[in-house]
Amino acid sequence: MTVLILGGVREGRDLADLLVAEGIDTTTSLAGRVKYPAAISGRVRVGGFGGQDGLAQWLLEHQVAAVVDATHPFAEQISANAAAACATAGVPLLRLQRPSWVEHPDAANWLWVDTAKQAAQAAASYQRILLTIGRQGLGEFGSLADQELWVRIVELPDAKLPPRWHPILARGPFTLAGERELFEDLGIDCLVTKDSGGTLTEAKLTVARELGVQVIAIRRCPTLVGVETVSDVAAAAAWVRSLPAG
Ligand code: NAP
Repeated sequence: MTVLILGGVREGRDLADLLVAEGIDTTTSLAGRVKYPAAISGRVRVGGFGGQDGLAQWLLEHQVAAVVDATHPFAEQISANAAAACATAGVPLLRLQRPSWVEHPDAANWLWVDTAKQAAQAAASYQRILLTIGRQGLGEFGSLADQELWVRIVELPDAKLPPRWHPILARGPFTLAGERELFEDLGIDCLVTKDSGGTLTEAKLTVARELGVQVIAIRRCPTLVGVETVSDVAAAAAWVRSLPAG
Protein backbone atom coordinates (compact mmCIF):
# COMPACT_ATOMS: atom_id res chain seq x y z
CA MET A 1 0.00 0.00 0.00
CA THR A 2 1.39 3.38 -0.97
CA VAL A 3 0.20 6.46 0.88
CA LEU A 4 0.84 9.87 -0.63
CA ILE A 5 1.36 12.61 1.93
CA LEU A 6 1.04 16.10 0.53
CA GLY A 7 3.52 17.86 2.79
CA GLY A 8 5.28 21.14 3.37
CA VAL A 9 4.68 21.53 7.11
CA ARG A 10 5.72 19.73 10.29
CA GLU A 11 2.60 17.55 10.55
CA GLY A 12 3.40 15.87 7.23
CA ARG A 13 6.90 14.97 8.42
CA ASP A 14 5.58 13.65 11.73
CA LEU A 15 2.99 11.51 9.93
CA ALA A 16 5.64 10.08 7.59
CA ASP A 17 7.82 9.24 10.63
CA LEU A 18 4.94 7.39 12.30
CA LEU A 19 3.79 5.45 9.26
CA VAL A 20 7.27 4.49 8.05
CA ALA A 21 8.12 3.24 11.56
CA GLU A 22 5.11 0.91 11.23
CA GLY A 23 6.32 -0.37 7.88
CA ILE A 24 3.78 1.54 5.79
CA ASP A 25 5.04 2.70 2.40
CA THR A 26 4.79 6.49 2.10
CA THR A 27 5.75 9.10 -0.43
CA THR A 28 5.80 12.68 0.76
CA SER A 29 5.33 15.32 -1.90
CA LEU A 30 6.88 18.77 -1.50
CA ALA A 31 6.21 21.77 -3.71
CA GLY A 32 9.92 22.61 -3.79
CA ARG A 33 9.60 26.13 -2.41
CA VAL A 34 12.34 25.59 0.21
CA LYS A 35 15.88 24.78 -0.97
CA TYR A 36 16.81 22.85 2.18
CA PRO A 37 13.74 21.06 3.55
CA ALA A 38 13.96 19.15 6.84
CA ALA A 39 14.66 15.41 6.55
CA ILE A 40 11.57 13.24 5.93
CA SER A 41 11.11 9.49 6.48
CA GLY A 42 10.10 7.36 3.52
CA ARG A 43 10.17 8.40 -0.10
CA VAL A 44 10.12 12.05 -1.11
CA ARG A 45 9.22 13.66 -4.43
CA VAL A 46 9.53 17.35 -5.21
CA GLY A 47 7.62 19.69 -7.54
CA GLY A 48 4.09 20.29 -8.81
CA PHE A 49 2.02 17.57 -10.47
CA GLY A 50 0.66 19.82 -13.22
CA GLY A 51 -2.74 20.70 -11.74
CA GLN A 52 -5.54 18.39 -10.70
CA ASP A 53 -5.39 16.27 -13.87
CA GLY A 54 -1.65 15.74 -13.42
CA LEU A 55 -2.19 14.73 -9.81
CA ALA A 56 -5.01 12.31 -10.73
CA GLN A 57 -2.74 10.72 -13.31
CA TRP A 58 0.11 10.49 -10.80
CA LEU A 59 -2.15 8.74 -8.29
CA LEU A 60 -3.15 6.12 -10.85
CA GLU A 61 0.35 5.61 -12.25
CA HIS A 62 1.84 5.13 -8.78
CA GLN A 63 -1.02 2.97 -7.50
CA VAL A 64 -1.65 5.27 -4.57
CA ALA A 65 -4.02 3.68 -2.06
CA ALA A 66 -4.77 6.88 -0.12
CA VAL A 67 -3.80 10.53 0.10
CA VAL A 68 -3.30 12.58 3.24
CA ASP A 69 -3.35 16.28 2.47
CA ALA A 70 -1.14 17.62 5.24
CA THR A 71 -0.34 20.91 3.50
CA HIS A 72 -0.45 24.28 5.22
CA PRO A 73 -3.93 25.73 5.81
CA PHE A 74 -3.10 28.59 3.41
CA ALA A 75 -1.96 26.29 0.58
CA GLU A 76 -5.45 26.36 -0.90
CA GLN A 77 -4.71 25.40 -4.49
CA ILE A 78 -3.07 22.06 -3.79
CA SER A 79 -5.86 21.13 -1.36
CA ALA A 80 -8.50 21.88 -3.99
CA ASN A 81 -6.49 19.91 -6.55
CA ALA A 82 -6.20 16.97 -4.16
CA ALA A 83 -9.97 16.88 -3.59
CA ALA A 84 -10.68 16.93 -7.34
CA ALA A 85 -7.91 14.47 -8.27
CA CYS A 86 -8.85 11.93 -5.58
CA ALA A 87 -12.48 12.07 -6.70
CA THR A 88 -11.40 11.46 -10.31
CA ALA A 89 -9.00 8.64 -9.46
CA GLY A 90 -11.27 7.06 -6.83
CA VAL A 91 -8.61 7.36 -4.12
CA PRO A 92 -9.59 8.04 -0.47
CA LEU A 93 -8.51 11.47 0.80
CA LEU A 94 -8.00 12.77 4.31
CA ARG A 95 -7.28 16.38 5.18
CA LEU A 96 -4.91 16.83 8.12
CA GLN A 97 -5.22 20.46 9.15
CA ARG A 98 -4.17 22.33 12.27
CA PRO A 99 -7.10 23.68 14.27
CA SER A 100 -7.75 27.37 13.60
CA TRP A 101 -6.83 30.10 16.07
CA VAL A 102 -10.34 31.53 15.78
CA GLU A 103 -11.09 29.79 19.10
CA HIS A 104 -7.84 30.97 20.73
CA PRO A 105 -8.55 32.61 24.12
CA ASP A 106 -6.98 35.89 22.94
CA ALA A 107 -8.56 35.90 19.47
CA ALA A 108 -11.17 38.52 20.37
CA ASN A 109 -8.37 41.03 21.03
CA TRP A 110 -6.78 40.61 17.62
CA LEU A 111 -7.52 42.54 14.49
CA TRP A 112 -8.82 39.98 11.97
CA VAL A 113 -8.44 40.70 8.25
CA ASP A 114 -9.25 38.73 5.10
CA THR A 115 -6.14 39.40 3.01
CA ALA A 116 -2.44 40.13 3.31
CA LYS A 117 -3.03 43.55 1.70
CA GLN A 118 -5.52 44.43 4.43
CA ALA A 119 -3.00 43.25 7.03
CA ALA A 120 -0.39 45.61 5.52
CA GLN A 121 -2.83 48.54 5.69
CA ALA A 122 -3.68 47.73 9.31
CA ALA A 123 -0.01 47.45 10.30
CA ALA A 124 0.94 50.79 8.72
CA SER A 125 0.39 52.79 11.93
CA TYR A 126 2.86 50.65 13.96
CA GLN A 127 6.56 51.32 14.35
CA ARG A 128 8.21 47.94 14.94
CA ILE A 129 6.48 45.14 13.13
CA LEU A 130 7.16 41.40 13.20
CA LEU A 131 5.91 39.70 10.05
CA THR A 132 5.43 35.92 10.39
CA ILE A 133 3.58 35.09 7.20
CA GLY A 134 6.34 33.18 5.39
CA ARG A 135 8.16 34.24 2.22
CA GLN A 136 5.46 33.82 -0.36
CA GLY A 137 3.14 36.68 0.60
CA LEU A 138 5.86 39.27 1.24
CA GLY A 139 5.09 41.15 -1.98
CA GLU A 140 1.69 42.07 -0.52
CA PHE A 141 3.48 44.08 2.18
CA GLY A 142 5.28 46.39 -0.27
CA SER A 143 3.35 49.40 1.12
CA LEU A 144 5.38 48.94 4.35
CA ALA A 145 8.76 49.16 2.60
CA ASP A 146 9.77 52.26 4.60
CA GLN A 147 8.70 50.79 7.94
CA GLU A 148 11.10 49.15 10.45
CA LEU A 149 10.11 45.55 10.00
CA TRP A 150 11.37 42.08 10.94
CA VAL A 151 10.49 39.17 8.69
CA ARG A 152 10.71 35.67 10.15
CA ILE A 153 11.28 33.16 7.37
CA VAL A 154 12.87 29.75 6.85
CA GLU A 155 14.99 30.87 3.89
CA LEU A 156 15.68 34.22 2.25
CA PRO A 157 13.38 35.08 -0.67
CA ASP A 158 14.85 35.41 -4.17
CA ALA A 159 13.90 39.11 -4.31
CA LYS A 160 15.93 41.52 -2.16
CA LEU A 161 14.16 42.79 0.96
CA PRO A 162 13.70 46.57 1.39
CA PRO A 163 16.65 48.14 3.31
CA ARG A 164 14.63 48.70 6.53
CA TRP A 165 13.40 45.11 6.63
CA HIS A 166 15.44 42.64 8.68
CA PRO A 167 15.23 38.89 8.01
CA ILE A 168 15.15 36.48 10.93
CA LEU A 169 15.99 33.05 9.54
CA ALA A 170 14.32 30.45 11.75
CA ARG A 171 12.21 27.33 11.51
CA GLY A 172 9.55 26.61 14.18
CA PRO A 173 8.46 25.39 16.62
CA PHE A 174 9.21 28.39 18.84
CA THR A 175 9.29 28.50 22.65
CA LEU A 176 7.71 31.02 25.00
CA ALA A 177 11.13 32.00 26.38
CA GLY A 178 12.55 32.45 22.89
CA GLU A 179 9.59 34.53 21.72
CA ARG A 180 9.73 36.75 24.84
CA GLU A 181 13.39 37.44 24.24
CA LEU A 182 12.78 38.22 20.57
CA PHE A 183 9.83 40.56 21.16
CA GLU A 184 11.56 42.38 24.01
CA ASP A 185 14.95 42.72 22.28
CA LEU A 186 13.35 44.15 19.15
CA GLY A 187 10.67 46.20 20.94
CA ILE A 188 7.97 44.71 18.70
CA ASP A 189 4.66 46.61 18.80
CA CYS A 190 2.76 44.72 16.10
CA LEU A 191 2.68 41.05 15.10
CA VAL A 192 1.27 40.02 11.72
CA THR A 193 0.35 36.36 11.38
CA LYS A 194 -1.74 34.04 9.27
CA ASP A 195 -4.29 31.89 11.08
CA SER A 196 -1.91 28.96 10.71
CA GLY A 197 -3.38 27.48 13.87
CA GLY A 198 -2.15 24.68 16.12
CA THR A 199 0.46 24.82 18.84
CA LEU A 200 3.79 24.81 16.98
CA THR A 201 3.92 28.57 16.47
CA GLU A 202 1.43 29.60 19.14
CA ALA A 203 3.94 30.98 21.67
CA LYS A 204 4.16 34.32 19.81
CA LEU A 205 0.45 34.90 20.52
CA THR A 206 0.89 34.40 24.26
CA VAL A 207 3.87 36.73 24.30
CA ALA A 208 1.97 39.33 22.27
CA ARG A 209 -0.74 39.36 24.96
CA GLU A 210 1.82 39.56 27.79
CA LEU A 211 3.58 42.52 26.20
CA GLY A 212 0.51 44.33 24.85
CA VAL A 213 1.55 43.83 21.22
CA GLN A 214 -1.21 44.27 18.63
CA VAL A 215 -1.86 41.04 16.69
CA ILE A 216 -3.11 41.29 13.12
CA ALA A 217 -4.42 37.88 12.01
CA ILE A 218 -5.19 36.91 8.41
CA ARG A 219 -8.26 34.65 8.20
CA ARG A 220 -8.25 31.25 6.50
CA CYS A 221 -10.39 30.47 3.51
CA PRO A 222 -13.31 28.16 4.33
CA THR A 223 -12.40 24.46 4.44
CA LEU A 224 -13.34 22.26 1.51
CA VAL A 225 -16.78 20.77 1.86
CA GLY A 226 -17.04 16.97 1.78
CA VAL A 227 -13.41 16.18 2.63
CA GLU A 228 -12.93 14.17 5.84
CA THR A 229 -10.72 16.24 8.11
CA VAL A 230 -8.69 15.56 11.26
CA SER A 231 -6.62 17.99 13.27
CA ASP A 232 -3.74 15.88 14.56
CA VAL A 233 -1.16 13.41 13.32
CA ALA A 234 -2.31 10.52 15.54
CA ALA A 235 -5.82 10.70 14.06
CA ALA A 236 -4.39 10.78 10.54
CA ALA A 237 -2.26 7.70 11.26
CA ALA A 238 -5.33 5.91 12.66
CA TRP A 239 -7.23 6.73 9.45
CA VAL A 240 -4.41 5.23 7.34
CA ARG A 241 -4.34 2.09 9.50
CA SER A 242 -8.11 1.71 9.07
CA LEU A 243 -7.86 1.52 5.26
CA PRO A 244 -8.43 -1.86 3.69
CA ALA A 245 -4.98 -3.45 3.14
CA GLY A 246 -3.60 -3.97 -0.34
P1 NAP B 1 -0.64 26.32 -3.29
O1 NAP B 1 -0.81 27.75 -3.68
O2 NAP B 1 -1.79 25.62 -2.70
O3 NAP B 1 -0.14 25.46 -4.52
C1 NAP B 1 0.32 26.01 -5.73
C2 NAP B 1 0.88 24.88 -6.56
O4 NAP B 1 2.09 24.39 -6.00
C3 NAP B 1 -0.03 23.68 -6.63
O5 NAP B 1 -1.05 23.83 -7.61
C4 NAP B 1 0.95 22.56 -6.96
O6 NAP B 1 1.37 22.64 -8.31
C5 NAP B 1 2.16 22.97 -6.14
N1 NAP B 1 2.17 22.37 -4.81
C6 NAP B 1 1.77 22.89 -3.63
N2 NAP B 1 2.00 22.06 -2.62
C7 NAP B 1 2.53 20.95 -3.17
C8 NAP B 1 3.00 19.72 -2.63
N3 NAP B 1 2.96 19.47 -1.32
N4 NAP B 1 3.50 18.80 -3.50
C9 NAP B 1 3.56 19.05 -4.84
N5 NAP B 1 3.14 20.19 -5.40
C10 NAP B 1 2.64 21.14 -4.57
O7 NAP B 1 0.58 26.17 -2.28
P2 NAP B 1 1.52 27.28 -1.62
O8 NAP B 1 0.71 28.14 -0.72
O9 NAP B 1 2.36 27.88 -2.71
O10 NAP B 1 2.41 26.36 -0.68
C11 NAP B 1 3.39 25.52 -1.27
C12 NAP B 1 3.84 24.50 -0.24
O11 NAP B 1 4.39 25.20 0.88
C13 NAP B 1 2.70 23.64 0.28
O12 NAP B 1 3.08 22.29 0.15
C14 NAP B 1 2.50 24.05 1.73
O13 NAP B 1 2.22 22.96 2.57
C15 NAP B 1 3.82 24.73 2.08
N6 NAP B 1 3.61 25.90 2.96
C16 NAP B 1 2.76 26.88 2.58
C17 NAP B 1 2.55 27.95 3.44
C18 NAP B 1 1.58 29.05 3.06
O14 NAP B 1 1.41 29.96 3.89
N7 NAP B 1 0.95 29.02 1.91
C19 NAP B 1 3.21 28.00 4.67
C20 NAP B 1 4.07 26.96 5.03
C21 NAP B 1 4.28 25.91 4.15
P3 NAP B 1 0.68 21.76 -9.45
O15 NAP B 1 -0.66 22.38 -9.71
O16 NAP B 1 1.63 21.84 -10.58
O17 NAP B 1 0.53 20.36 -8.90
